[in-house]
Formats: sequence, C-alpha cells, structure tokens
Amino acid sequence: MKIYEQDLSAATAVTDKAPIGYVHSIETFGSVDGPGIRYVAFLQGCRMRCQFCHNPDTWNIGTGDEVTADEMLADAKRYRAFWGTQGGITTSGGEALLQIDFILDLFKKAKADGITTCLDTCGQPFTRKQPWFGKFEELMKYTDISMVDIKQINPREHKRLTGWSNENIFDMLDYMLEHDKHVWIRHVLVPQRTDYDYELIQIGNYIKTIAPIVDKVEILPYHTMGVPKYEELGIKYPLDGIEPPTTLRVKNAERLLHTSDYTNYKNFPNY
Ligand code: SF4
Repeated sequence: MKIYEQDLSAATAVTDKAPIGYVHSIETFGSVDGPGIRYVAFLQGCRMRCQFCHNPDTWNIGTGDEVTADEMLADAKRYRAFWGTQGGITTSGGEALLQIDFILDLFKKAKADGITTCLDTCGQPFTRKQPWFGKFEELMKYTDISMVDIKQINPREHKRLTGWSNENIFDMLDYMLEHDKHVWIRHVLVPQRTDYDYELIQIGNYIKTIAPIVDKVEILPYHTMGVPKYEELGIKYPLDGIEPPTTLRVKNAERLLHTSDYTNYKNFPNY
C-alpha cells in the first residue's frame, strides 16, 4: 500500500484483552520531548501532511511494531533510574492521538506507577464527538503535560501547509484551558511558509489568551534532515530549495511569541 492510499480509519487495534499500539520507534533518552529525560514512544500513523515534516515514514497508519501498554511500560521502566523528578514517558508520533485507546491504557498504568506522562500531539484527531471525546477526557486525567504545535494561525493557510484545518486544534486548546491542562506550545519556523511577522504576532497574541496553561513556548527552526526519507519513499519533497531560517529570524520569532515569558516548565510536575 502506498502512503497516499492509506486507510484513514482509527489506528489502534482494540482486542478483547488490551489495546495494541503501533510503534514507529523508541528513543530511550529523549531530552527534547517534554520535561527531563524521557522514554519517548514515536507512534506510527499521521493524517496530516505538513510540508516540513521530516518523518514521512511515520505517516502510514496501522503499520509498525505491535506492542501492549504493559510491554511498553516494562521496557520503559528499565530506564527509570535516569528520569529524576521530571522525566518519564512521552508518546509522540506520527500523531499519538490516533492511538488514543493505547495511550489511555499506557498513561493510566504509568500514573498508577508514579511515572509522569507527556502527550506530544498536533491535535488533528481532536473532536467533541463521542465516543472519541469521552476517551480524550479520560486521557487528560492521566496526562501531566501536553506538547502542542501551532503550525499556522490562519485556518486556510494551515490547510495549505498541512492538508487540514486548525479549528479543532484550537478547540482542543480551549478544552485544555477550561480544565487547567498544562501545555508546551511549539511553532516550526519555515521561511516562506510560517515565518511572517504579522502571523507570528497573531500567534503570540493567541498564546497570551491561554497563558494560564502555557508552561513553555518554543520555536523549532525548520531543517532539511528529512529530505533523504522523501527520496527513499519516492515522495516529491514539498519544500525543495527552502533553507533553514537564520538565527536572526529565529530570535525574531522568539521575540514575537514572547517565549521568555513562559517559564513555568521549571516547576514541573510540582505546580
Ligand atoms: S503532524 Fe507531525 S508527523 Fe504528521 S505530517 Fe505533520 S510533522 Fe509530520
């Protein structure tokens, strides 16, 4: 099956025993995907098609290594000695929320074991429709921190950049604000796509409206390390000829998003 012909149905297989997770890869000493040192599970499957995506090999839904929450937890706990007070488990992707049954099982069990949980998501699967929304509400009870990308502020531009609108992503952030669920906000800075002052100012203003739950804001400079993967998969690279942003533009974006105002991440998990 080619990536662009994939089945877009829910990606987690639920058996009568335990939800099965589909895993792309594991990073055992992750230091950028949430607080402290973390065991990061990159789950397989994503519906978005961000032009700057450097992991197109995570797009395919329903493939990858199959694992139960108990198996992943046992594997993760081998690294527990390195976690300290802040570290723990992160689920990333691909898009982790496509496998909500699996994550819910994993986070419930992790929290019961005193392990901190971090959800790295782009929010694309978010909906208030049932039964999905009920699962999300349950998941939030067991999630200590979420990392959410704001890729574009304008829904039309967001669709051009990723293939999907962002209205439900902002709805998810509304939910998180209403329920005091803390987040790290990230913005990937791509010249000619997401690096325009007027949009960065709008993103900065938007973040202020949800400031009570924002512990950290990060600018992620676009890079071209994913290019060989596109070649390998035979997919045309969408940002051909676009170079990473200059240090000056990164600093400009940090200023417009007021990144230095958001420092509550230092207090995690003891707010
Ligand atoms: S949401 Fe993440 S994994 Fe999916 S296409 Fe965008 S960057 Fe790639």
